[in-house]
Amino acid sequence: MTTLPMSLTTNTPFDAPELSDVNEHFLDVIIHPLERPYTYKGPFHIAPGFQVTVPLHGRKATGYVVTTYLENPCKDPKVTIRSISKPDKSESCFLAEQLTLFQWISKYYHTPLSEVIDTAIPTLTPPKRERWVSLSQDTGQEQPKGGVQLAIIELLKEATTECTVQSLAGAGKSYITALKKLLEKGYVEINERLMSRQLLSVPRPAQLSLEQLQALDAILDSLTPCKNNTFLLHGITGSGKTEIYINAIIKARKLGLGCLVLVPEISLTPQLVSRLEEKIGERIALMHSGLTPSERAHYWRLALEGELRVVLGARSAVFSPIHNLGLIIVDEEHDSSFKQSDSLRYNGRDIAIVRAALAQCPIVLGSATPSLESYLNAKRGKYTLLEINQRHGTSKPPSLECIDLTKHPRSKMQSQNISLPLKEKIEQTIQNGNQVFLLFNRRGYASFMICDACGYTLFCEHCEVSLTYHESTSSLACHYCNKSYQIPPRCPSCSAPRLQNRGAGTEKIHEEVGKLFPTARIERLDRDSAKNLEDYRSILERVKNKEVDILVGTQMIAKGHDLPGVTLVGVVDCDVGLHMPDFRAAEKTFALLTQAAGRAGRGIDPGHVILQTRSPDHLSIVNTLKHNYSGFAENELKDRKDLGYPPYWRLMRIVASSENEELPEQALTLLTLNLASLVDENIGKLSVLGPSPAPIMRIKDRWRWHLLVKAENVTLMQRVLYYIKSNWKTPKSLRITYDIDAQEML
Ligand SMILES: [Zn+2]
Ligand SMILES: [Zn+2]
Repeated sequence: MTTLPMSLTTNTPFDAPELSDVNEHFLDVIIHPLERPYTYKGPFHIAPGFQVTVPLHGRKATGYVVTTYLENPCKDPKVTIRSISKPDKSESCFLAEQLTLFQWISKYYHTPLSEVIDTAIPTLTPPKRERWVSLSQDTGQEQPKGGVQLAIIELLKEATTECTVQSLAGAGKSYITALKKLLEKGYVEINERLMSRQLLSVPRPAQLSLEQLQALDAILDSLTPCKNNTFLLHGITGSGKTEIYINAIIKARKLGLGCLVLVPEISLTPQLVSRLEEKIGERIALMHSGLTPSERAHYWRLALEGELRVVLGARSAVFSPIHNLGLIIVDEEHDSSFKQSDSLRYNGRDIAIVRAALAQCPIVLGSATPSLESYLNAKRGKYTLLEINQRHGTSKPPSLECIDLTKHPRSKMQSQNISLPLKEKIEQTIQNGNQVFLLFNRRGYASFMICDACGYTLFCEHCEVSLTYHESTSSLACHYCNKSYQIPPRCPSCSAPRLQNRGAGTEKIHEEVGKLFPTARIERLDRDSAKNLEDYRSILERVKNKEVDILVGTQMIAKGHDLPGVTLVGVVDCDVGLHMPDFRAAEKTFALLTQAAGRAGRGIDPGHVILQTRSPDHLSIVNTLKHNYSGFAENELKDRKDLGYPPYWRLMRIVASSENEELPEQALTLLTLNLASLVDENIGKLSVLGPSPAPIMRIKDRWRWHLLVKAENVTLMQRVLYYIKSNWKTPKSLRITYDIDAQEML
């Protein structure tokens, strides 16, 4: 008889482990950070998802059960299988069906399953359950007697749904005894749960336009019965995509389906959460990096036990346990924050698509500027394209205007970075009682400090990066290792006291605008002024309450905000980011400009957008001005196809870094030679670019080189990666990262 892996059987991890004397039970346990699972003998069946403590090379280790067997899977009699006692916790840590997803991620990103699980699951503490008291549907035969019993019933009636046992203490000293009596008589029910079952309100579907209704209908068609369809919801900014999501979630919940909503990190504001909760009429589980570990564990547990059935969060929410998953929504699917930039370099959007396929449910990818990957999939008919070309309600798309900075020399401007037309428009907007957003996508005061006498530029001691001057702290900072430095009184090279600030950042723009408009209320929104979600929320709250006239900020101001008072958006310098060494620079710039422009005129008053640039003919800018997404996308796709870049080819970036300056280059050169022989084998279209020094040659004292591997399809890319991993031996002092479907090129 062959051994049957039982990891995906009907055993839910909710089955409390039961003593069984029938068979021996074998289980595979995955232990972080080890690559392969270890087999142990258990006293009874322990379902996948349970955490266990196991003996390992003379010490104790914790891991998760991933597979169970009825007979010993190890056929080698010389191998001793060690025994374990019982699970660490009486509850499982994830759902059995999540394991399939974790295994897929492990394979695709060539990362040990133990690391995937370690990334996915928060540290779970024993859950705190409360006892909830509610009135029974059918009242008992015996009448309640005595003041305390009657008082309890009154309190429960007032609460309309249920209360904790402790909250009934006001009924009288002997409330526990009275409660026991009521329970015996069948007047009340007591349930032990993590939270109240209370419905917040009746779900309130949003009013939709004809275009919105058509899009919604297509999505709803895939809910009854549930089938796996990927929708690309391309709606212009302000077209009301959120309203469609809300209606789809309400419908899915009516059908008893669980929902997953992914949003880019920063747009996860408490307002969005309460708005969603109010509309869909139930509490939502949150998952994002702004939560404390215990909050994250709490929500995970609530979702795992099915108390909360809608999960909302940033990329890591894609791992959440969700019962009967029936709908996934990825808002702003183009946003690069869905890609994790360290350790397990996964893309939350891509995993969401796989997850929908595994769950056989629909997924909606929404954006005003879809990623070219998604757009091409829609063009090829792999995804269903849903388009909304009109703004929701009465607002109209903003008018756009381009200011060619080459025709506005600095010498003729009152300020270094704000042209006269932009200045006049700001003035007029504030006078009309409206608000202004000014985008400058670089933080700090000056982008570098240079000696006027010898041209020496101040660099970080640990990175090949020029230091940014921050006026607010009067210090220099490295934006890569976060080290801050005192400003030297003299040039470290020639000792001349002539160090000067050059380039600009949000702090500098803030200062300039302050000089131009001394009476205006100006605030700044960037990573320095909003260090956490609370700061972020309060800045936006002040804008919403019209306590701010002008908000200067980085790309943080371009994210999904719906602030009706903002009628003017000025992009101070469209060219920041346009000339980055990144093949996606044009795509990212187009998306940023379109998203920023979309903040203007979302209320009654029409919006206006001013783009300041020295490259007025660049297609990112020309097409932003014309509201022409498809024009931009078609042109960019043609270039990508010609050059063999994503979305036509798959791309992997291999970065080698070491404290030794020579090692990364040597290692990658050797690898390139090996790969060349693979290219000659004609296994498919494959191309290797490099090795070359990474654009940032040194970070945190490590020298960096990189190599780009392009393959015509995903299977070939996986073959290449497998080949490299099994044939390439590198010294320990060399750190190699494989970034599959890389977004980051620095
Ligand atoms: Zn000098
Ligand atoms: Zn540094």
